[in-house]
Amino acid sequence: LAQLYGPLNMLGYIYRSVNQSLVDTEKLLKLLNEPTDVNDKPDAEDLIVEDGEIEFDNVTFSYDGRTTALNGVSFKVPKRSTVALVGESGSGKSTILRLLYRFYDLKEGEGRILIDGKDIRDVTQASLRKAIGVVPQDPVLFNASIGYNIGYGKFGSSAEEIENAARAAQMHERITGFPDGYDTKVGERGVRLSGGEKQRVAIARTLLKNPPVLLLDEATSALDTSTEKDIQKALQHLMEGRSSLSIAHRLSTIRSADLILVLKDGQIVEQGSFTELLARAGPFATMWADQVSSSEDGASSIQVKKEP
Ligand code: ATP
Repeated sequence: LAQLYGPLNMLGYIYRSVNQSLVDTEKLLKLLNEPTDVNDKPDAEDLIVEDGEIEFDNVTFSYDGRTTALNGVSFKVPKRSTVALVGESGSGKSTILRLLYRFYDLKEGEGRILIDGKDIRDVTQASLRKAIGVVPQDPVLFNASIGYNIGYGKFGSSAEEIENAARAAQMHERITGFPDGYDTKVGERGVRLSGGEKQRVAIARTLLKNPPVLLLDEATSALDTSTEKDIQKALQHLMEGRSSLSIAHRLSTIRSADLILVLKDGQIVEQGSFTELLARAGPFATMWADQVSSSEDGASSIQVKKEP
């Protein structure tokens, strides 16, 4: 992996110079890893996001043409609301995020994905990805200064903007404790950050990018209470005023979500708010009860294992 950082750094540099609107580390990495057969239509227009309302309309998808990853999935993320995806491993949560980011295009008859009423297959990929911020489970940092790693979210960001974003993401204090502050090198050859810190760097980066739509993939690993609180605060800042779709493992995220979608075998089997779902005594309530009984810290996170 270390060998990837050098070329990635260079690629990142070239990329920034070529098209600032496409700045997104996660995308760079994905581009290197995943073959893409997604192409802009000749008449593709730029996506103009007013509200950031997301809609999945009867989406069915298979990676290999044999097994079904999503089967007739329909839901809406109303403007500026937060939707949490929960479900066992392999239930289709990541597939929903990948499709919204257009790593794959739906074919005729596989349903539609809309943002503000616009089919995402009809818009340019650059404009779509500019509108979407991604906070992955395990963000990748460049072998560069921590300031660079945050400023990457927006080309030409000033030191003040970077610091403000770091403050909002609850990382400023940590950074000023480093020997060279914002100039401290991080990554494989510099200061090694914990998973929680890397997530906060990704949150700061995304705050600078300032997208109307957010995709979050929460880490499954348990965090200590103070890190948990810091991330919670950072996420609150980030989610404020945006539409977000999260693969949720943390109690705080699940509890505060406007809507929870419970997935099983590529289908939505239940949906509602936290209180509604608990009162319904269905799959979510069962999953929740299992979690609480097996958790020593009163279930600060939810780990859903695939049934044997
Ligand atoms: P997890 O919580 O483990 O990340 P998930 O709910 O995100 O799981 P998905 O990754 O969306 O689940 O997977 C849904 C289904 O699609 C699974 O059956 C999985 O095996 C399959 N799948 C996922 N990615 C690929 C891929 N790249 N190629 C083929 N099949 C895939």
